[in-house]
Amino acid sequence: MLMPMRIRHIFYKKADTAMKTTLIALSFVALQAVILAPPALADGKEVNLYSYRQAFLIQPILDRFTEQSGIRVNVVFAKKGMLERIRAEGANSPADAVLTADIGRLSDMVEAGVLAPVKSAILEQNIPARYRHPGGLWFGLTTRARVLLVSKERVKPGMVTSYEDLANPELKGKICIRSGKHLYNISLIASVIAHKGPAAAEKWLRGLKANLARKPQGNDRAQAKAVYEGVCDVGISNTYYMGKMQTNEKKPQQKKWAAAVNIVFPNQADRGTHVNISGAAVLKGSRRKAAAIKLIEFLSGDFAQKIYARQNFEYPVKPGVELHPIVKSWGAFKADTMNLARVSSYRREASKMVDKIGFNY
Ligand code: FE
Repeated sequence: MLMPMRIRHIFYKKADTAMKTTLIALSFVALQAVILAPPALADGKEVNLYSYRQAFLIQPILDRFTEQSGIRVNVVFAKKGMLERIRAEGANSPADAVLTADIGRLSDMVEAGVLAPVKSAILEQNIPARYRHPGGLWFGLTTRARVLLVSKERVKPGMVTSYEDLANPELKGKICIRSGKHLYNISLIASVIAHKGPAAAEKWLRGLKANLARKPQGNDRAQAKAVYEGVCDVGISNTYYMGKMQTNEKKPQQKKWAAAVNIVFPNQADRGTHVNISGAAVLKGSRRKAAAIKLIEFLSGDFAQKIYARQNFEYPVKPGVELHPIVKSWGAFKADTMNLARVSSYRREASKMVDKIGFNY
């Protein structure tokens, strides 16, 4: 049963619940195969990575890392359940490092106590402080802004310029958003709490709810689609989905959705747009920490930054790295400078607020 020693990747996408169970079990088997695969390489010669980020994004970069460092990277790709798996494996976990998107997932790992603090001059130099955990528990590698996608036809320039504007009664029935409980929105709401305080944030969230054209639903792209279809005038989305829609050859109708909207980077006149990260962290139980740190340092360097961010229409964290032409075409913007660790300390409060006001109902 543990024959598939060549399996280095398990990559599972959307599946029904029964499938998911099977796939999680299967990935455990594959993981065992990775660990048991002889011959094990000498210390400092390999690193085990659990990744929420997809193979197309990182494999070419990992290959280059191996070429340059001689360190082999064994990857387990996953869509869900990474923290649960790390917890279940406990001290026996083979994982050395994780790659994931959204500060929410990284913060969950901080709270679970599974991450190791890392001190690295290279990481401190490459990554602005606001995109690193102050104690070195995680490091941002790419950023994405949570922006407004506004109807080109129906929203005049200057009509909506901030997150606060979303609660403006003039926008009644004009806004579309995915579930308030989705981690992208939890982080956004947490950032409003962090900046404005809980009372003002709740008032804002109630105002936003009152302006919704429909119950929160769908993913970020579904909001652009709704604007295209005239269901609403303003959608809320991460920036990279614009790039994905604008270039989608498999589902060309998405190009029309993207063409129907302009991107508005909110709060340019004050605190800046809420930005989230994808990032990496080293696990507390890792027995190959030096190699894991080397890998994350490599991911923060010029070569990886250029490719990593571009593949998914994200922004590199390292200042000065060239943007994808499409990302560049959206224009420069001012990002919120508050440390994401501080923003994310309000996530629980944000989640409770969503429930309290019945945002999704
Ligand atoms: Fe996403």
